[in-house]
Amino acid sequence: MNVTHLECAACAARHEARRLHNLCTECGKPLLVRYDLKSAATSLTKERLKERGPDLWRYREVLPVDQAENIITLGEGFTPLVRASRLGTRMGLSHLYIKDEGQNPTQSFKARGMTAAVSMAKELGVKKLAVPSAGNAAGALAAYAARAGMEAHIFMPRDTPRANVIECEQTGAQVTLMDGLITDCGAEVGRRKEAEGWFDVSTLKEPYRIEGKKTMGYELAEQFDWELPDVIMYPTGGGTGLIGMWKAFDEMEQMGWIGSKRPRMVTVQAAGCAPIVRAFESGKRFADEFPNAQTTASGLRVPKAIGDFLILDALRASGGTAIAVTDAELIAATKEIGAAEGIFCAPEGAACLPALRKMLDDESVKSDERVVLFNTGSGVKYLESFSK
Ligand SMILES: *Cc1c(COP(=O)(O)O)cnc(C)c1O
Ligand SMILES: [Zn+2]
Repeated sequence: MNVTHLECAACAARHEARRLHNLCTECGKPLLVRYDLKSAATSLTKERLKERGPDLWRYREVLPVDQAENIITLGEGFTPLVRASRLGTRMGLSHLYIKDEGQNPTQSFKARGMTAAVSMAKELGVKKLAVPSAGNAAGALAAYAARAGMEAHIFMPRDTPRANVIECEQTGAQVTLMDGLITDCGAEVGRRKEAEGWFDVSTLKEPYRIEGKKTMGYELAEQFDWELPDVIMYPTGGGTGLIGMWKAFDEMEQMGWIGSKRPRMVTVQAAGCAPIVRAFESGKRFADEFPNAQTTASGLRVPKAIGDFLILDALRASGGTAIAVTDAELIAATKEIGAAEGIFCAPEGAACLPALRKMLDDESVKSDERVVLFNTGSGVKYLESFSK
């Protein structure tokens, strides 16, 4: 409701709000939504938040939908920030937390992005949506499209977890399984969308999924009583949530809600698909495509991310880092977190634990710092990963 325009994250070209956009028409990079934050801050106040419902639309002044009747919701967001005391004590940390995104509708934080993207698609008159997905984005799109009465056309790798395929079919989507990776699925959507009349909601090729995901940053601030944590461990595929939180921190500072201090942002990837880790270590601003990408943590199987430079910029600006862990480590961590804290994590979320352990070993995290692990989904969707 306070959107002023869209701005290219690379070349700063201005694009008109209230029109359908994919990438920047000047340079082909992602577009970010800009708001009149002064106006937003007059009706959205810390005080007023206390009276609002427990979903991400509580931050509606800094979300893109204009007319409330266009909001397509299943109650996503405002997930619990769980104190992980037993695990923390074991690691030698006095303030360890898990942000449990597995409690979202469709059991992953992809619901946050899709509630925003599908609502905006409705507002802008779209009828047919298409997405390439490594799994959870598909399930979320299928659900929100069904709720909006729109068509969902979904392209996933053939070896996507079964739960993701079944949930899409059972929520009425058109599912195509492809030999290859999410990048191949994305190319197929790109080839067919014009002839089919589909709107492509690939992450960051569409400007609104990131707006939904940035609310994780608002929630962290609110749940920590407006003092951001010291370290955020984030399992990174396309990086939408990390870039989104980084954007949210700036917006909150401009609204006078927080100061200039930022958490150290840490990208966690699987050793079998770690393009951002490689680029971070070699000092590059853009990441090369990761060859032969492989990991059971399907949400991390993104060999090339269009927002790579935005992820890398945020890691460096925050004094953070990027860490890869093996599949054996992240699968073992799922049980360690589950048995200690009662949260059955997605393997992507569990990957944060061995990454944190590496940071404690080299003393880049101190024992009294406040650390948040992002559990981005529910382990229930990954039964194949746990059956031997
Ligand atoms: C998509 C996904 C990720 C990666 O999220 P990005 O914000 O795109 O980096 C991590 N974990 C799970 C469970 C996912 O579905
Ligand atoms: Zn541009």
